[in-house]
Amino acid sequence: MSGRPDTRGDGTRCVHAGSAVAGPDVPLAPQPVLAAPFHLGGEDFYGRASNPTWRALESAIGWLDGGECVVYSSGMAAVSALLRTVLGAGDVVVLPSDGYYLARSYVRDHMAAHGLEVREVPTAARWTGETVRGARLVLLETPSNPGLDVCDITAVADLAHAAGALVAVDNTTATPIGQRPLELGADLTVASDTKALSGHSDVVLGHVSARDPELLARLRAERTASGAVPGPFETWLAHRGLGTLDLRLARQAENAAALYQALRDHPRVTGLRWPGAAADPAHPVARQQMRRFGGVVTFVLESTEAVEEFLARTTLVASATSFGGLHSTADRRARWGDAVPDGLVRFSCGCEDPRDLVADVLAALR
Ligand SMILES: *Cc1c(COP(=O)(O)O)cnc(C)c1O
Repeated sequence: MSGRPDTRGDGTRCVHAGSAVAGPDVPLAPQPVLAAPFHLGGEDFYGRASNPTWRALESAIGWLDGGECVVYSSGMAAVSALLRTVLGAGDVVVLPSDGYYLARSYVRDHMAAHGLEVREVPTAARWTGETVRGARLVLLETPSNPGLDVCDITAVADLAHAAGALVAVDNTTATPIGQRPLELGADLTVASDTKALSGHSDVVLGHVSARDPELLARLRAERTASGAVPGPFETWLAHRGLGTLDLRLARQAENAAALYQALRDHPRVTGLRWPGAAADPAHPVARQQMRRFGGVVTFVLESTEAVEEFLARTTLVASATSFGGLHSTADRRARWGDAVPDGLVRFSCGCEDPRDLVADVLAALR
């Protein structure tokens, strides 16, 4: 896809990203190649090192991210590969204190032998030179998960680069068409494509994108050596899902806006957050750096029991973790150990009709 002008719209880009050059007998849509060994002499020789199905998805996501993409077997495989590749013994790493919990626990429990100095910083902190001083890597997550706070990627990247650090952004919640961290000054963007990018709740996958060829070569070599490789079938499923990302995000954001409106003055709801709402504290920065908003909304009910009762009474909202899929889901985050109120619900708007979804949620809260 390189060489194509980037002026095309998100729908066009999602549909055509990573498609093969047209020709007789070429399948219209990319197809999975499941091979382990290949006949030698060409680009591919063994499925842990390279595969045409990976290349198709990497070319698609890389085009959308504005860099080159390396796909992994899960979001955590991508996050951990990035950490292992970039960090050396005794380095200082800045992590979001309110971001995805496994990134912190991976560093704490599985990289302890590196003797890293870990600095946990809230996404909505006032970032200064002091926050990033001496760091080798600053990992941001914006919007953060599940609190939906945001930080100014360009401003933090300027501070971090002045301190000699690399900047990576976990872009899972935004997706490559919702926010382009590489264009905003980050060195790396990492995501769980299990969520909105694949979008159909049937595949676990992740990726890292970057622009620096040396960094990309190290990531690819680390992937081949560690074996954190995605299966071609999952890779193909993700590519298939990506084609409708623009449509799905548009409906999810429409649902989020309708739900926000319906819950804003609801007597049982507090702490309502959606960065797309003009009244949300994250909105001014989000509007500046995000290209569009997604369907994840957070709010707080009175207690654990209140959330359980709500989930039992809805008919359209599944009690499930994960987010960004076709189906609306809701997750009480304290059950996973997030440092949030017991009654905090991360609500992922699916692609149902706004009228039906809002009616179902309001009935379940009655
Ligand atoms: C889900 C998630 C991950 C982990 O991705 P998996 O595909 O589940 O391994 C990382 N970061 C964020 C923000 C996530 O939501």
